[in-house]
Order: sequence, then structure tokens, then C-alpha cells
Amino acid sequence: MAVSETLETKPSTGIKVIIVGAGFGGLTAAIECVRQGHSPVIYEAFPELKILGDIISFGPNAGRIFHRWSNGKISRKMRELSIDLTDYGFNIHKWDTGEIVINQKTPVKDETAPVFNGHRGELHEVVFNYAKEIGVEINLGHRVENYFETEAGAGIILENGTKVEGDVVIGSDGVRSKARTLVLGYEDKPKSSGYAVWRAWFSNKDMLADPETKQFCENGDTFNGWIGPDVHFLFSTIKDGSDCCWVLTHRDEADIAESWSFPGYLKDVYKVLEGWDPMCKKIVSKTPESVLVDWKLVYRDPLPTWVSGYGSAPGHGRICLVGDAAHPFLPTSAQGATQALEDGVTLAVLLRKAGKNNIKGALRAYQEVRYDRVRKVQKTGETTRDMWHKTDWEVVKKNPETIQFPREDWIFAFDTEKHTEEVGDEIIANVTATAA
Ligand SMILES: Cc1cc2nc3c(=O)[nH]c(=O)nc-3n(C[C@H](O)[C@H](O)[C@H](O)COP(=O)(O)OP(=O)(O)OC[C@H]3O[C@@H](n4cnc5c(N)ncnc54)[C@H](O)[C@@H]3O)c2cc1C
Repeated sequence: MAVSETLETKPSTGIKVIIVGAGFGGLTAAIECVRQGHSPVIYEAFPELKILGDIISFGPNAGRIFHRWSNGKISRKMRELSIDLTDYGFNIHKWDTGEIVINQKTPVKDETAPVFNGHRGELHEVVFNYAKEIGVEINLGHRVENYFETEAGAGIILENGTKVEGDVVIGSDGVRSKARTLVLGYEDKPKSSGYAVWRAWFSNKDMLADPETKQFCENGDTFNGWIGPDVHFLFSTIKDGSDCCWVLTHRDEADIAESWSFPGYLKDVYKVLEGWDPMCKKIVSKTPESVLVDWKLVYRDPLPTWVSGYGSAPGHGRICLVGDAAHPFLPTSAQGATQALEDGVTLAVLLRKAGKNNIKGALRAYQEVRYDRVRKVQKTGETTRDMWHKTDWEVVKKNPETIQFPREDWIFAFDTEKHTEEVGDEIIANVTATAA
């Protein structure tokens, strides 16, 4: 069956899936539900689509998912918006001298599992439009206020009091998820990770006008990182050098909520960069202060469960969390959005396998398939940060490869759709037997 000229879908399962939130997690869950034969409908609080955020990364394990959408049509669009480092690679500098300790080569392109680093808002728009194109109903300007479920169905209540009913509800409402509290009864207590990032995305026109920085904008895209004691600074130029973005991770014990929109101040950034290669300050000085974001990185203990009525959670097993609502990531893993995608794919496959009469089995199996992998990937956010922030430069001098950004097969080569097709039936059978 085909819902568009290019997208093949499985026969209808008759499962109505209500999805809360139209971030990458919610949109991917919806698109994958269409592929697997379910009927998704999205409710999103934002009244309109806005190009929000700055740089976001998708590893090859996400590229593999995008590539399956309409035979590569979507991944080709995303490719045009993403950094191309085929020739440039990644220059890793020592923080004080500025010397390049290694040029980490870009892996050979795999068209079936591409990597995307680009503007979150622009890439999000591509995915959003694709979901609409294949017929997903997206209701913008509808904040979800509450959730309900019985043995026979589940649904949401919107802020205007409207009740929407379906077979299953996916709470993909992001890092400050209301579903987490309302559905699982879990009191979320974020704690400071001891770090924060300043981040910015802007046009390169001032960078081009400066003879010292124009080298980064003249010959296509670039990627440079300076690694220092408890601080790292990553700087990319993108769109053939016309835009740029940087992210600086540093110590910060401030105990406030994380946000994509807290204003940042250049004077604070300069303080952290004292004693650093002067090029870093030069780059930062081109930033319009209005686009500088100060984002506190907080930790959350792993949720005991992502599914209602499972483990310690109350309920009937028809509501679950995906993406940041279930498992926020530190940016140094570069896997937060990718793991939200893997969730949506896994869930849609399991719902098809378990069928309309065993939603509980599908959701429990979803948690079983995903939980340990997500925990392991989450930890890489800390290990990469610590590897960079506690660098032993004597070791790096002898062995520069030790400072490269880790690219691990168990993360990148993973195909969550294939894996779920292989293990799904057995896991559904196991969790269903235990539930009976
Ligand atoms: C505005 C914004 C900017 C971001 N910028 C970046 C960035 O620059 N770089 C980066 O790496 N990551 C960024 N992220 C986070 C990144 O998108 C996520 O970590 C990742 O994509 C996982 O996505 P998600 O779908 O789980 O959550 P999110 O992308 O956070 O999506 C959650 C969605 O749920 C909606 N929502 C929340 N509560 C309700 C409710 N009660 N009712 C209905 N809808 C609700 C939100 O409006 C949001 O659209 C940003 C997220 C947001 C929301």
C-alpha cells in the first residue's frame, strides 16, 4: 500500500495512536506509525512551526531511519541543509597554543546511513512537512493538559477541555515532560551536572570581513574544536561557509532549569577563554549577543519505567514516553535526537507485531528493547566530556588518536528497525506471559 507516490506502508492495523508533541521524537513516531499501518494524530502546544534552536546532530543510526522515508527523498533534502566535512574533517586543537593535534577524518559517506549536522529548525521543518505530506494529522496550538486510560483505550484532554480518545498515547513532550509526572506519577528532580554551554548560530559576514577569520568561510564548510581543562569549544561553518555556529561547554554550578532560550553574555564567555588560543576569542567576538544562548546542563536520574502500568507506574499499559521525555541526553553524546528517532521506529514496529488487542504487550516490549541501549548511549555523554576535559597532553602527544571524537559501531551501525523485527516477537511473548 502507498500513502504517497514514494512511501510503502504495511496493511492497516486499526490502531489509533495519539502523539503529544511534534519534536523529532513525536514526528518520527508518527511517520513510522504510518509506515507500519497505524493511524497517528499529533497534538502540539506551539501555535505555529518556528525555525528554533541551533546546531543539532544526527548519527548514521538516525540517517538510516531518514533514508527509508520515500527512498531517500527526505535524507537528500536534509543533506543539502547539513555540514559537509568530506574534505575538511575535524581539526582538534590544543586549547592554549592552538596547535592542531590531529585532523580527524570524516568517514566515507554511506548513502544508506548518512550523518546530518545542521540547524535544528531547518531540519525539523523538513521532517514536519514530510509528516504532513504523508497524511499525518498535526494539530498545532493544542496544549495537552491531562491523560486518561482504561483497559480498553487511552486518550488526552486538551486545555480547552476537548477529550481525544485512541488506543495508545505517546508522550513525546520533551525534556520538561508533563506526561512523565501525570502518567508515571514520577517527580522529576533535575540536578546540576556542574556544566553549562553557551551556543550561537549566526551569519559569517563579520567573520569574512576579518582577515584572521575569513579562512573559515572561504572554502566551504569547516569544523574545529579546542580542548582544554574542563572546557571545550566547538566551531563550525556551514552552508558553504555562509553561516557559522559554536558551542562552548564549561563549568557552571548554577542550579536553574535548562532552557534553549536563556540569554548569554559575551563578557562571561571571554572570562572563560582567558589564556586560550586568541583565535577562540576572535571567533566569539563576531557573535551578535542577541543570539547567544546560555543553556544549563542538568542531570536526571533514569526513570524507573517509561510505560504506564509497568513496574512501579500506575495505569493500564497504554501510555508511554519517548525521546527527551523518557531520557534526556547531554550534548556531548551527540545522540539525543537520534535516540528519540530510534524510540519511534521501535514502538511502531512493536505495535504492528503485537496488534490492536495487545497494546500493553507492545509498550512493555518497547521498554525492554530500548532501555539498556539508551542508558549505555546516555553514558557516552559523560565519557566523551571527561575524556576531553581531563586530557593528558603527554599521552596525546604520543598518541593523538586518543583525543578523537569516539565513533563506535555499537551505536552507529545499529539498525533499530531490523533489530526490532528480529527480536520483537519473542520479547512481546515474554512480556505478555509475565503480564497475564
Ligand atoms: C525549541 C527547541 C529548541 C531546541 N534546540 C536544540 C538545538 O539547538 N540543538 C539540540 O541538539 N537540541 C535542541 N532541542 C532539543 C532536541 O530537539 C531534542 O533533544 C531532541 O530532538 C528530542 O526530541 P523530542 O521530540 O523528544 O523533544 P522536543 O524536541 O523537545 O519536542 C517536544 C515537543 O513537545 C511539545 N510539548 C511540550 N509539552 C506539550 C504539551 N503539554 N502539549 C502539547 N505539546 C507539548 C513541545 O512544544 C515540543 O515541540 C531543542 C528543543 C526545542 C523544543
